[in-house]
Amino acid sequence: MNTTLLKAQRWLATRTMRCDLALNREAGVVSFSFDDAPHTACDAGRTVLEKSGCHGTWYIAGGLTDQLEQGRMCHSVRDVQDLAHSGHHIGCHTYSHNPCDRLSQTDMASELARNKAFFEGIGIPTADLHFSFPLGAFHWASKRLAAQTFHTSRITGGGVQVGHADLNALRSERLYQQVMTPERLAQLTHHVAQTKGWLIFYTHDVEASPSQWGCTPNLLDAAVKAALDAGCKVLPVNQAVQYWSTRE
Ligand SMILES: [Zn+2]
Repeated sequence: MNTTLLKAQRWLATRTMRCDLALNREAGVVSFSFDDAPHTACDAGRTVLEKSGCHGTWYIAGGLTDQLEQGRMCHSVRDVQDLAHSGHHIGCHTYSHNPCDRLSQTDMASELARNKAFFEGIGIPTADLHFSFPLGAFHWASKRLAAQTFHTSRITGGGVQVGHADLNALRSERLYQQVMTPERLAQLTHHVAQTKGWLIFYTHDVEASPSQWGCTPNLLDAAVKAALDAGCKVLPVNQAVQYWSTRE
């Protein structure tokens, strides 16, 4: 499929097959999500969140388990199990981490089934799975299949969700060392608190010298503290949906 057609498909996908959740509670919510997830996210990233009494969402592709990704060690089975046992939220990220807008429906379905089987094999609950599209790549057909399969699906377009959120294409903001400035962090957390909206951060590795797709523990800690200081709740994606779904 050529680029123009893919763009048209994505434009169509953002406007159709929506599952809008009203965001009308007493506080804004900030969620921290970790894609792939590198070992450092499962270690240092988890430590930062737990230090503030918070939990996050880790989107796991079973095909990356025990693999090197961009020269960095990915999660182990033990990492994923420890996260789940500690109350963190484990989501699906396909098995092979291929962009879904390049897959046939049959191939995408088998990717999702394979990752579900991977989770079942290591004792991760699969009754209510959430999803993030690898590389944020989705189009009409992949959004439809994900909507049929998962409780929520996350994409990578940034910004705070205000008033409502499309559960089939949750927007998220990069928490990358190279792009996140103190001013941007303050602006985002102020905005989500004021509008009582939902801000979902995503990153990858969490270490002192992160990749261009990761952040330092200090930046993650600053973002958690900024969210809490602004009066927001910090919740993993599944608990955020429960929060928004419950009437006051
Ligand atoms: Zn990924």
